[in-house]
Amino acid sequence: MKGSVRKLKQNDMNQCFGNLMKSTSSPTLILNKAGKILNVNEAAIKLFNLNLTYIGYLSMDEPSNLKWAKFVNQLQSDLRSEEIFNIRTASNDFEMMSFKCFYDPNTEEIVAQISTLNYDMAHELYVSQEQEKSQSFNAYDHLPYAVIVSDASGIILGLNKYAEMYLKIEKSQLLHKAHQHIFDSFSMKNGQITTYLSKLMGEKHANIHVVDETQVGSTCYYEISSIFDEYNNIIVTVINDETEKKQLQHKIEHQQALNVVGQMAASIAHEIRNPLTSLKGFTELLKLNADEESHMYLSVIDSELQRMEQILSELLVLSKPTSMKVELIELDHIVKQVIEFMLPDALMKKIMIQYISSSTQVYIGGNENRLKQVFMNLIKNAMESMHNGGTITVEMNTIDCAIVELMIKDEGIGMDSTTIQNLFQPFYTTKSTGTGLGLAFVKKVVEEHEGVIDVNSEIQKGTCFHMQFPIYTFNQIDSLEVSTKDSAYLVT
Ligand code: ADP
Ligand code: MG
Repeated sequence: MKGSVRKLKQNDMNQCFGNLMKSTSSPTLILNKAGKILNVNEAAIKLFNLNLTYIGYLSMDEPSNLKWAKFVNQLQSDLRSEEIFNIRTASNDFEMMSFKCFYDPNTEEIVAQISTLNYDMAHELYVSQEQEKSQSFNAYDHLPYAVIVSDASGIILGLNKYAEMYLKIEKSQLLHKAHQHIFDSFSMKNGQITTYLSKLMGEKHANIHVVDETQVGSTCYYEISSIFDEYNNIIVTVINDETEKKQLQHKIEHQQALNVVGQMAASIAHEIRNPLTSLKGFTELLKLNADEESHMYLSVIDSELQRMEQILSELLVLSKPTSMKVELIELDHIVKQVIEFMLPDALMKKIMIQYISSSTQVYIGGNENRLKQVFMNLIKNAMESMHNGGTITVEMNTIDCAIVELMIKDEGIGMDSTTIQNLFQPFYTTKSTGTGLGLAFVKKVVEEHEGVIDVNSEIQKGTCFHMQFPIYTFNQIDSLEVSTKDSAYLVT
């Protein structure tokens, strides 16, 4: 490249620079490599207040002096280059100026065209530097956690996609805002932000645990950690989603409490069962000699005793490993029996139970009494949710001759997301007189029958429970009638 530069004679050079200096209205200097001024134009004389009888060296501050040496080195090989220097002006102040320089290797002289960096230019330069910075923050987009970068004065310079997601805000709304806006969507205790900020400034790092309660029914937990990177003069903030960890923690605590309650309930249920049996026996005896009025009271006692027994047996199934006899059951048959049994009660509450079945003679392996209890619990819940009457639809379908699906759908009050999350938990109830055992029992029994259960619900529209069981074939009958199946796990 150097070789291709036309070599000018000294006169030609002077002539050429002379023309250039006349033709340009911007301040232009000819300098040697040490920064000594060899020639100037009118504009430069004005700018630097130069005395034409003595033209000395360019006066610049210390960092610019160092930069000059490096710059000249580079210029000698590139022949043209640009740089910004802090130069003393006519008013004796230093000012940032841009030097556009050409180097003539022949004379070893530098022609420098100078422009002062006015406010607009400085601003433009600042913005382009900022853009460069924020482009480099785009790299954070690919990280699997939320990152926010703020400058040392606490202005947000960049954030990645996860940060937008966790903070539920668009990037453009947070950019160039104060760092504290990170906390806008969280519920915070008084003084929490102040403590965090003062720790960040003092110790150069701080973290804070926050809760997002903006979405009803699904609370999210985050840990926000910030580090003040003094070297780059930026604050890097990382947000960690701790929701799963917290949920697991709550679940374990809940489970531990339930274990204790469950064990107590199981032993109490066991103790109550025996006196209950004798109460039932004596009630039957009393009925033999009772007049009509006493008979009425005795039937009430009888049905209440039955209810107690029902609760106790559900509690016992739930609280300890049980074994059950497995038989081949025609599902259609027992569903009809349950509906028949529950219909009178339903009709009294202006509720119709409709049964739709596309398949009879579908067999599953299981225990008839327990399955009946499952369907009864589901229909009972459906009835309890329909305060103004309506229709409960029970529907049975087979899928690929291998699976039978049973749906129990109501037109009741529906459930919110907290109830949906907890409804299979033992003792979870939203009813003042509920036990919260019905669905825990249902889930355990369905799973004992190798089945699955799921729920869809919409507030004020209704709820639909779906169950699926594997269909048994006749080949499996013989083996079934003799086999007993142990329930291996303990639910409390
Ligand atoms: P309980 O009936 O004693 O409350 P369950 O285990 O049977 O206990 O039900 C737990 C909770 O699930 C109920 O309290 C109720 O909030 C909710 N639930 C169950 N089934 C329905 C339904 N069909 N419609 C609305 N809510 C229901
Ligand atoms: Mg119930």
